[in-house]
Amino acid sequence: MAEGTNQLPYFFGNITREEAENYLKQGGLSDGLYLLRQSRSYLGGYALSVSHGRKYYHYTIERELSGTYAITGGISHNSPAELCNYHAHESSGLVCLLKKPCNRPSGVQPKIGPFEDLKENLIREYVQQTWNLQGEALEQAIISQKPQLEKLIATTAHERMPWFHGSISREESEHLLLNGIKTNGTFLIRERDNNGSYALCLIHDRKVSHYRIDRDKTGKLSIPEGKKFDTLWQLVEHYSYKPDGLLRVLTNSCQRSATNSGATGFNFHEQQGLPRLPSRTWSAGGIISRFKSYSFPKAGSKKNATVARTGSISSNPYVSRQLLDRGTDSSMYSMPMDTDVYRGIYEDPDELKAQTVEIKREQLSLDEVELGSGNFGTVKKGTLKLTRSERKVAVKILKNESNDPSIQKELLREATVMQQLDNPYIVRMIGICEAENWMLVMELAELGPLNKYLVKNRDVSEKNLTELVHQVSMGMKYLEEKNFVHRDLAARNVLLVTQHYAKISDFGLSKAIGADENYYKAKTCGKWPVKWYAPECINYYKFSSKSDVWSFGVLMWEAYSYGQKPYKGMKGGEVSMMIESGKRMECPPKCSPEIYEIMKLCWTYKVEDRPSFVSVELQLRNYYYEIAQ
Ligand code: AMP
Repeated sequence: MAEGTNQLPYFFGNITREEAENYLKQGGLSDGLYLLRQSRSYLGGYALSVSHGRKYYHYTIERELSGTYAITGGISHNSPAELCNYHAHESSGLVCLLKKPCNRPSGVQPKIGPFEDLKENLIREYVQQTWNLQGEALEQAIISQKPQLEKLIATTAHERMPWFHGSISREESEHLLLNGIKTNGTFLIRERDNNGSYALCLIHDRKVSHYRIDRDKTGKLSIPEGKKFDTLWQLVEHYSYKPDGLLRVLTNSCQRSATNSGATGFNFHEQQGLPRLPSRTWSAGGIISRFKSYSFPKAGSKKNATVARTGSISSNPYVSRQLLDRGTDSSMYSMPMDTDVYRGIYEDPDELKAQTVEIKREQLSLDEVELGSGNFGTVKKGTLKLTRSERKVAVKILKNESNDPSIQKELLREATVMQQLDNPYIVRMIGICEAENWMLVMELAELGPLNKYLVKNRDVSEKNLTELVHQVSMGMKYLEEKNFVHRDLAARNVLLVTQHYAKISDFGLSKAIGADENYYKAKTCGKWPVKWYAPECINYYKFSSKSDVWSFGVLMWEAYSYGQKPYKGMKGGEVSMMIESGKRMECPPKCSPEIYEIMKLCWTYKVEDRPSFVSVELQLRNYYYEIAQ
């Protein structure tokens, strides 16, 4: 839903064309009286209903791939409200100017469509079944991937509808319908072939009529010469309101069941609790498995080999293409849950027994590939042998030469912090290996630091950047909840598992905050990343989750500047002076005003006025959902 549309007094939600006409009639039917409603055929679209000359006119407002809205063939606008304002002054194609909004009668809320209600349950169930997730991991998956999941569910929701029978033959469909109660209006839908077309089979006068449902090049579905729809369930909903060329309206669904016995009353709105269907579950495999071969083992699976999983949906290439066409970037390809670092290694029941911080040297083999380095030594890629499987890991190797016990202590301190954290958006520690060197074994985030990645990949979209910084805010919200301060939050310490999956790393400076304190006070000023530090860190050595929020603002600036260095060319002292004088970094060239507002909020001078991660995460989430629809 476009931002704020629900609040428009002339937005009626998911009402039918006839209901819209009734409201316009009640509103006096004056020329130019108009209302806005949700499109019942286009996902994310709207319809504008206008009265003129005592007649009604309805215009489809499509949501374009760029996220703008336009009446087919017309000028693009940022929101449906903006479109209506425009047509108050320019009829350009409309029957007349929009003169007066027809507002909802008092007490009437925008009507919620059947899918709105259904989708929360469908998404939850889909994520549970596909990735076998529970509890926090499930919640985090839903929050971080909601826009992608919504699209997926919308175009596959028919699989869970009782009237959808999959690829049964014409004869079978007739058998099912005629062996049932044989009530006029009883119907089912079957898949016709692998070209993405279906058939609607409907009883009328004791005979079964078969209507072809074709899919056009853009993926839209229609009965020949009929109205076009994005999804099968929208088509069924439409024809259950009016025949619109069919012999009659759809009234009873011929229920699919283990025995496929008989028909029961059908009312779309009664089907809202539908997922409790017999005999059918979601097809196996995540989104990746729908589109291509990939080399991640599914979370919890023991398979390492490249697999091309096929489910009942992927057997239909048109559904996949329809989904792909909708994505403006590659975000439909991979979700964090598709990788083997979404869930902790020890959540696998086969590895549970092995849970120990200590890793034996023979379990570990190191690659020559160096992932990075720091004061302590190097980070290498390696392979860890587990009870039943192997995992690619990152290994922080302490250099021997220095023989400095304080470095060893630092590594142990970092390990102790990491051991207490378990979140999909934080690099988890797997264990410590004491051998020729001290080694800290961690989850591997192969694409490396965010800042470096963005310098090399300038084509990463704003949506993708927002997806990533939102994930970081989710990880930081978790840290805030656990009373840890990171103290070195910066784009260099956000590592990428994939282009759509970020993890917070480097807990070398992190501290746990005592139960009755709300900040950590450093005794002395160390080698600090001052450009990322809030004024209270510099002035009073005080560190809290709120000072991490300040750093997060700088991290956001780095991300939307594609890895540029903040306060370029300035010294630490100059940065402090700039901050004290009330100045802040400017909005990066391609960054939206909404995102820049969040950055500036993070750079609120007074700690008590600065938002917490709970609030920052929510603001980013809302913005992300809005642009990723
Ligand atoms: P650090 O001192 O922890 O920031 O690590 C230094 C560098 O090693 C980072 O900038 C990364 O390039 C690399 N690195 C550290 N941890 C990992 C990891 N878990 N996965 C992949 N690369 C890593």
